[in-house]
Amino acid sequence: MTSDLPPGLWIGAAGVGIGLLGGLVALLLARSKCQALAALRRSQAEELARVAQERAEALRRRDELQAFDEVLALNPQVGHFIWTLGPDRLWLSPHWAPMLGGGPEDLPLSLDALRMRMHPADLDSFDEALNAHLQRRLPMLDRVLRLQHVRGHWHWVHWQGKAVTPPGAEVPDRIVGHFYDLHAQKLAEETLASDRRLFDSGPVIVASLDAQPPHGLRSVSASAAEALGYPRGSKLIGRSLDELLLPEDLAPVLADLAAVAGQPGASFQREVRLRQGDGGSRWHSLHALIAGSEGQTTVRAYLLDVERLKQAEREAARQAGELQVAVEHLTHNQAFAEQLRELSEKIQFAASEAEAHALLGARGPELLPGWSAALMLGGLAGQVERRAAWGPAPATAVQGSQDCWALRLSKPHFAQGGAGACGHVEGRPAHSLCLPIPGLSSGPGVLQLAHAEALAADALRQAEARAAALSETLRLSLSNLQLRLSLQEQATRDWMTGLYNRRYFEDLLPRELNRALRAAEPLALAMLDIDHFKSYNDRYGHEAGDEVIRCVARHLAEFGRPYDSRCRVGGEELCILMPRIAADEASSRLEALRGQIAASPVHHAGRELPPVTVSIGVAEAADGGGPSELMRRADMALYAAKRGGRDRVVVWVPGLPEEA
Ligand code: GH3
Ligand code: MG
Ligand code: MG
Repeated sequence: MTSDLPPGLWIGAAGVGIGLLGGLVALLLARSKCQALAALRRSQAEELARVAQERAEALRRRDELQAFDEVLALNPQVGHFIWTLGPDRLWLSPHWAPMLGGGPEDLPLSLDALRMRMHPADLDSFDEALNAHLQRRLPMLDRVLRLQHVRGHWHWVHWQGKAVTPPGAEVPDRIVGHFYDLHAQKLAEETLASDRRLFDSGPVIVASLDAQPPHGLRSVSASAAEALGYPRGSKLIGRSLDELLLPEDLAPVLADLAAVAGQPGASFQREVRLRQGDGGSRWHSLHALIAGSEGQTTVRAYLLDVERLKQAEREAARQAGELQVAVEHLTHNQAFAEQLRELSEKIQFAASEAEAHALLGARGPELLPGWSAALMLGGLAGQVERRAAWGPAPATAVQGSQDCWALRLSKPHFAQGGAGACGHVEGRPAHSLCLPIPGLSSGPGVLQLAHAEALAADALRQAEARAAALSETLRLSLSNLQLRLSLQEQATRDWMTGLYNRRYFEDLLPRELNRALRAAEPLALAMLDIDHFKSYNDRYGHEAGDEVIRCVARHLAEFGRPYDSRCRVGGEELCILMPRIAADEASSRLEALRGQIAASPVHHAGRELPPVTVSIGVAEAADGGGPSELMRRADMALYAAKRGGRDRVVVWVPGLPEEA
């Protein structure tokens, strides 16, 4: 039927048809494109949703991880690890670096690398623990190891981990766990252990005591009983302080404890004696510390045996004491020797024996402190007389050599408590000592010493030695003095009359004059001349004349005061120097002398010869006038007495004529 149609129509129709077909195809094509696009959009949306979901999941996991990290970081001492077994991989939390030092490059990233850092002595133990755990023989991997710090030293770290087996698998694929720093604790433990060893074995006793009296012993080092010498098995725990310490040390320790009671951290230190098992004691240095908290304290006591130190101290003190005594002895001896030397010098150069004796009396107490003494020397009629004395106990006079053993035996005589003492010793002193002083021109001498109280042997020996040195010094110095005085006497005395000679007078006059002027005291000089002596000589002989001179000299010797000096200045010319007296007063005294001489007959060769008279001229020392002026004035007065008729006393006055 389609063939009946004209060709144009057919063509047209065909065209339309093609057009329609085309349109259909296009329609179909468009439709499938739409479908494809929709599918694409669908898959894109699904993808987006999945990505969004994944992202949300990732964010959630990141939050979780962050939270987990925060949890992990909560304890900075505890680090974490994951050790993957398949390929050996080790993850360590950031705690590693602060513990063992170094940066990321120093992190051990495998177990092998970790093992490289382990102390060789800990390796076997770690491996053994690891295997035991992996073989399920141990529930955990648990080891304390030393790991090398990047700076080289060994650092204690505690490792604890557990194997994780994935679901459905037979064997674990990793071990997870934590590690933490045990170094400080380990060190503390080691210190504690060594302290403990020290306390248990060493010299330090560690104890704790009740804070309350009587301070019972709660615990004590194991070594304490042995150290204190208590029998094996002795129980120290429970003993109170008064059972442990010597009574002398208890009170101060109780006072110390009372002072720190109830104050945790307070402490005190003291040296005490701990009782020993054998009844003795040993010195310990006690350091006590109040431990615990307020209201619940104990006393921690650390005791170090210092007995040997104390012994050394005592020995040192003893030696120092001995040294001190020796030094003092030497110093005293030196001082004594110096005192003796000084005394000896002064005695030898004393002006008189009386002065020497006074010196000894004054210095004696320093030389022999605590001793009483008397120096007995030969005097008139062969008796010994006391010349010097000092000290509290009376030293009695020795009447003669028969009274004293030292004089009789010529050696020191020593007696104790009166037994065997010489008869002259009175009062039964604890010690008496007589030392002879021989070789003196005055006759035998003795130094008597007595001590009222008993002396120790050392002190007595020293006193004896000193007394011997003193008596020897006295022997030498007194005999020197006597010799010197005797020589001096011989040189200054007139042999015939015993009066001072002219030489002495010439020495004496300027001295006395100076002294009188300085002291503003008067000084009188009297010159005497026997009247008509020439003719007396002529009548009775020269020897009778000598006797007259001696007779007049005796009158002079007995005249006046002890400190007047009488001299024979020429043949029959004599003088008297009279200190502290004015010419007028001197004149009236001399008048008496003149009268005595004039009234005294002279006895010579069994006959009585008539008395002689003397003329006396007196002058007084005056300002500006020297010795020769004084003598000149006295001579002028004497000349005036002669011219006036002799047998008289004339005082110098201005205007008197000089002798021709
Ligand atoms: P006048 O009264 O003036 O003093 O007369 P005088 O005779 O005493 O005179 P003068 O004093 O000048 O005489 C001294 C005499 O004393 C001279 C001498 O013979 C005598 N004479 C001097 N010394 C001694 C002596 O030692 N012994 C004796 N027997 N006579 C002496
Ligand atoms: Mg004359
Ligand atoms: Mg004469």
